Amino acid sequence: MSNKCGTIKKVSGPLVIASGMRDANMYDVVRVSSLGLVGEIIEMHGDEASIQVYEETSGLGPGEEVISTGAPLSVELGPGLIRSIYDGIQRPLDAIMEKAGTNLERGINVPALRRDKIWSFKADMTSGRVEAGDILGTVEETDVVLHKIMVPPGCAGELLELKSGDYTVTDTIGKIKTDKGDIYEITLMQKWPVRVGRPYREKLSPDVPLVTGQRVIDTLFPIAKGGVGTVPGPFGSGKTVVQHQLAKWADADIVVYIGCGERGNEMTDVLNEFPEIKDPRTGKTLMERTVLIANTSDMPVAAREASIYTGITIAEYFRDMGYSVVLLADSTSRWAEALREMSGRLEEMPGEEGYPAYLGSRLAGFYERAGRVVSTGSDARIGALSIVGAVSPQGGDISEPVSQATLRIVKVYWGLDSSLAYSRHFPAINWLKSYSLYIDTMEKWYAENISPDWMPQRHRIMALLQEEAELDEIVKLVGMDALVASDRLKLEVARSIREDYLHQDAFHEIDTYASLEKQCIMMRLVLKFYDLSSAALKDGVSINKIVSIPVRERIGRIKYVAEDKVEAEYDSIVAELMEELDALKKEGEADA
Ligand code: ADP
Repeated sequence: MSNKCGTIKKVSGPLVIASGMRDANMYDVVRVSSLGLVGEIIEMHGDEASIQVYEETSGLGPGEEVISTGAPLSVELGPGLIRSIYDGIQRPLDAIMEKAGTNLERGINVPALRRDKIWSFKADMTSGRVEAGDILGTVEETDVVLHKIMVPPGCAGELLELKSGDYTVTDTIGKIKTDKGDIYEITLMQKWPVRVGRPYREKLSPDVPLVTGQRVIDTLFPIAKGGVGTVPGPFGSGKTVVQHQLAKWADADIVVYIGCGERGNEMTDVLNEFPEIKDPRTGKTLMERTVLIANTSDMPVAAREASIYTGITIAEYFRDMGYSVVLLADSTSRWAEALREMSGRLEEMPGEEGYPAYLGSRLAGFYERAGRVVSTGSDARIGALSIVGAVSPQGGDISEPVSQATLRIVKVYWGLDSSLAYSRHFPAINWLKSYSLYIDTMEKWYAENISPDWMPQRHRIMALLQEEAELDEIVKLVGMDALVASDRLKLEVARSIREDYLHQDAFHEIDTYASLEKQCIMMRLVLKFYDLSSAALKDGVSINKIVSIPVRERIGRIKYVAEDKVEAEYDSIVAELMEELDALKKEGEADA
């Protein structure tokens, strides 16, 4: 061990340079000083190691010892993850508080998974050949999460024994005689180094949507299962509500939320808020299927880097069980700032605005760990890890390097807009600036699973919104009266799309979620109004009369109609619409 022991040469904030570290390796976890602060080697030059320390380094000085553990930064994976609130290096914040009070003691050593908790394990098999990823049995971790105990990556052989029973995460539950001839003792817990993506057999094309029940997202800018998206967060634009809606409603079994130290108390808000959120599907708290990773403001910025990797590794682990996992990272800009600070201290050549030149590749490496995959297990189950990262550009200006690097990687951009939020249009996702690059790959899925009309309708709606923007420009120049009737109708329909369709109240019991079937009917209704009104215009009915027919009120209220009554309501509204337009036509003929 002594050859892995060096001494501090220099301390610069979260960066510690240690000499005498010749035998340590890049990315080894080290313990710094007699306090045993946790750090990670991020650069090696000869026998000198640059160490990123994940705890406050004040008071450290040259000459103190640094010991490499010889192992990379790893997370513990097993029952007990769900409901946990971890810091960046997977220390359970609640357990630490219990042990040390609110003042985080430095160098404190608390295992990520509780060692004293007993879990009831049910074996699915007792003998036979097993491969990495095979499911050996299950533990009911919470009321809603069935934790699958898998053969860890790299292990395969003959299952010698496996017993159902009550165990702690470190008890031996069975044995595998590996192909190399060793005996592997199976435990409920496994470990995995955070900087390495967990293996899978095959990545699938992103052709299935991650349904969120939020119309502007699902209809206009959908994200795929296993897809990657970003949402910027100007203050007050509804970023938190969007994230909560995704956590609550997205078609996901597991939610992993990484809170990367925004302003200090904001993170505390998240810690208080998340356990309060009710899971609409179960009526219980959302924590029953959530893992929270939090960097509170009293943690050094370097820990943000660790939290990103810790979070994604935990998310991959649940993906491997065959679950749909959604990872929310808020905010990746704070992580990038930590990279910038570290890079500065390492005296690296700065890139744009002082960010390191490898900013783009780091971000890409993170988002690339998303995907819908076939797991390594022999049952070829499919799991998905979808990532939505928030960026928080200063002043909302996305021309800065972190936003730009992110936009080059992600396939979905939900552009939250302060002016929409100001005019109380929620979700404040700007339909002209946002995009989704998954539309084409998912078109077939919508046609087969929802309706062949889905995409054509979606495209018509999008086109009307774009035409509205152009017509608005003309109206500004020459006034509404100069528009031909068909263009005035277009503007009315676009307004209906915005107000009746895209606007969605997260706090309304029914409107908070709309199934794709309901969205499809609602789109059809708005377009039906457009088509029938266009025909009426051609038959000589005046535009002023069309825009003020009473049935429009009902069109605007269909979003508040329960899922099982939407179809009947559609039929009834269309019947009324036809009647009223007919009446106008007759009136017109009589006038003539
Ligand atoms: P941010 O996190 O961007 O600062 P919030 O998500 O807290 O902003 O949103 C600010 C306010 O906007 C909320 O308190 C809520 O009143 C309103 N709001 C945001 N999104 C919605 C929505 N989908 N439906 C209804 N109200 C919303």
